[in-house]
Amino acid sequence: MSDFPNKARVVIIGGGVVGTSTLYHLGKKGWTDCVLLEKNELTAGSTWHAAGNVPTFSTSWAIMNMQRYSTELYSRLADEVDYPMNYHVSGSIRLAHSKERMQEFERACSMGRYQGIPMEMWTPEEARARYPFLETHDLMGVLYDPTDGDIDPAQLTQALAKGARDLGQKILRFTPATGVTQHDDGTWTVHTEKGDIACDYVVNAAGYYAQRVGEWFKQYGGRTVPMMVMSHQYLLSEEIPEIEAWSKENGKKLPLLRDVDISYYLRQEKNGFNLGPYEPNCRAHWATADDPMPEDFSFQLWNDDLDRIEDIVTDAMERVPALGTAGVSRVINGPIPYAPDGLPLIGPMPGVKNAFEACVFTFGIAQGGGAGKVAAEWIVDGHTEWDMWAVDPRRYTDYTDHDYCVQKGMEVYGNEYAMHFPHHEWPAARDKKVSPVHARIGELGGVMGVYNGWERANWFAKAGDDTSLEATHTWGRSGPWEQRIREECEAVRDGVGVLDLPGFSRFNLSGDGAAEWLRGMITGGLPKAGRMNLMYFSDDCGRILTEMSCLRHSEDHFTLITAGAAQWHDFELLKNALPAGLSLTDHTTEYGTMIVTGPRSRDLFQAIGTEADLSLPWLSHQPATVAGRPCALARVSFAGELGWEVHCANEHQPAIYDAILAAGAKPFGMYALNALRIEKGYRAWKGDLSTDYSLLEGGLDRFVKLDKPQDFPGKAAILRERQQGVKKRFVTLIVEAGDCDAPYMSCLWHDGQIVGETTSGAWGYRVNASVALGMVRADLAVPGTALEVEIYGQKCRAVVQEDQPLWDPANERLRA
Ligand SMILES: Cc1cc2nc3c(=O)[nH]c(=O)nc-3n(C[C@H](O)[C@H](O)[C@H](O)COP(=O)(O)OP(=O)(O)OC[C@H]3O[C@@H](n4cnc5c(N)ncnc54)[C@H](O)[C@@H]3O)c2cc1C
Repeated sequence: MSDFPNKARVVIIGGGVVGTSTLYHLGKKGWTDCVLLEKNELTAGSTWHAAGNVPTFSTSWAIMNMQRYSTELYSRLADEVDYPMNYHVSGSIRLAHSKERMQEFERACSMGRYQGIPMEMWTPEEARARYPFLETHDLMGVLYDPTDGDIDPAQLTQALAKGARDLGQKILRFTPATGVTQHDDGTWTVHTEKGDIACDYVVNAAGYYAQRVGEWFKQYGGRTVPMMVMSHQYLLSEEIPEIEAWSKENGKKLPLLRDVDISYYLRQEKNGFNLGPYEPNCRAHWATADDPMPEDFSFQLWNDDLDRIEDIVTDAMERVPALGTAGVSRVINGPIPYAPDGLPLIGPMPGVKNAFEACVFTFGIAQGGGAGKVAAEWIVDGHTEWDMWAVDPRRYTDYTDHDYCVQKGMEVYGNEYAMHFPHHEWPAARDKKVSPVHARIGELGGVMGVYNGWERANWFAKAGDDTSLEATHTWGRSGPWEQRIREECEAVRDGVGVLDLPGFSRFNLSGDGAAEWLRGMITGGLPKAGRMNLMYFSDDCGRILTEMSCLRHSEDHFTLITAGAAQWHDFELLKNALPAGLSLTDHTTEYGTMIVTGPRSRDLFQAIGTEADLSLPWLSHQPATVAGRPCALARVSFAGELGWEVHCANEHQPAIYDAILAAGAKPFGMYALNALRIEKGYRAWKGDLSTDYSLLEGGLDRFVKLDKPQDFPGKAAILRERQQGVKKRFVTLIVEAGDCDAPYMSCLWHDGQIVGETTSGAWGYRVNASVALGMVRADLAVPGTALEVEIYGQKCRAVVQEDQPLWDPANERLRA
């Protein structure tokens, strides 16, 4: 084949909406020498049969950003690339049957308005006036999103393809990729039946085939792509004269309807309806040995399975009786890939240099536009405009085996529109990673939560406490846990508590020159041997990439400790920059961590028996024995009291934990820790600390040493920002909250304008107040300034506090 391209900057494997959008966006960023390979015709995977709904709704800031961008792109794309297509911006209504659902809508509405989406809350009567076919007697209210709509997925893909081709990109249809080879310099050869293509970067955009394509990358450090495949059906009804008459009279389609508590969408399709249920008794496909994934499923569907969705169809016919007057004209039953949390994988491929993922999309039509932008930014710039941790492939580590993926995928599908309450932990596929004292924690009443696959106690229940999932169906602070969290915090304040923290990410760094290399990576300085400190990593824009605790053992030997969830993210950050001669190893699974903290913690260690020097100051660490077992004691406390972290090999943990309990420590959980840390203004990763903020905005100035000789990433940007001044500033707020504390991304208001957002919020049991951390317009970050924080639709007074911890501002208790 004469015009077969043997070279390309990027090769994208997969020509669905996502691969094509990535190609288009790479071209828009000036990388116009890229190739897309499609094994069949464009759209042959999931894209061709999608219903094409394009919502913006989400309670995740990142996902809403991505979907909002899609709607903005789709509105202009036909003109931009001169390819007409059917995109109907019909608006949508979401129906609320409960107070909690109304609160969720209020929250999304507020986030939407902050992003410039003019969402509105309607009464049932207002909804009925605009949607006369709707039964509203049992509704509490409705969320209206004027930007929602539907698009023809095939036309959208072809439009993106045309735009890409016009920019110079190449699309090879009927050209399956058959494998990849990585060379010593990190570049690739992608193999096809028609020839090889040399390239710098590869993107896996293979939709529901992504796991299969992902296998090729394992020999270069990759892992099994965490995903499974669900069957999703929608029904098209025959035409309905009433709908036709209404549409003619009003000159538009009905808004798209989602009855999220029942779990379906209902859209006007020509003069009938398209009904798409997400049924609880759902069906996974290609998940068992007797149902293998075929070599090729291009443009194929499964047979109808209407029994599964009968109840939902019946409910929809009661909600919109006009639906019941028409027969079913067609059923589409096709494959949708699911990651274990239902969100796609977009970003660097874990473990593999110069490879990226943009796959496993459950809502790829709605997200495709934004996903192309995000993927192209990752590839070209090495970072993204918005913090995209929510979809970063590295959020999953080594626990996502097949069984886990299938169970979680089914759970997410069956609860596609469920509310994600703050005290609710989803029950499927649990106990993937447990601490050596897991059974003991259970005996003590631990109510568990999952952190990077690890089970940790969120709180400790007493006999008679309601630990059912139903009890967690609230956005409120109150619940069976509240009194227990209070008791746990008070024990830490007045006595001593112990928290088992399995899965704290732990890396060992050593080798000649390790210190000097680290100095060039971080924004601040290193501790002396025997001491520890916090270090921050910036991206090139001066934004917060991550935070690690650094324990220095000798000149060139360090233990780096970081958030459980950050394990693969942070390891790769170090590994990808590691010079030859240095050693970096991950010991997360070999060690346990216990936080022992409270004013009586020193007495406790003395009582148990330790030869450690308990007078060593705050931020020191030492090898020690406790209860006759070897461990390390680090004098630090995320709870903000006198305390030590006990780090020990797994086999020693049960003995040490039991001794700590026997000496009188009260076990406490993650909820208490969250309450305790927020009173100290300690930031949490990917809530308060994210690439949505610069280090200077985040108030981390004291961890930035611009006068050091090393030219660390972000230095120039931070210097620039320091000269120009920050736009936002980190603040601690005391909130006159009602029943709920401020969740992440609650809007901050001042003088009728949104001036910032919260990054986390919780009740502080030591200061007896609702506390929020947040980012506010710099001129308002002045102690005493009164703002309002919008919490599930309620505007609550919030006052900016002094720039110091609310609890123990001088850190005297820590230093005691
Ligand atoms: C019934 C149904 C209704 C849906 N409705 C909606 C909706 O209303 N809104 C919404 O947002 N989403 C919807 N979806 C989901 C949506 O279809 C998918 O999320 C989206 O199409 C995924 O796009 P993609 O580009 O990631 O994957 P795909 O469209 O599957 O594209 C992947 C491509 O990769 C190609 N490929 C695979 N392996 C290779 C290889 N080795 N070499 C070359 N090419 C390869 C495949 O042929 C395929 O064309 C629906 C899905 C179903 C099943």
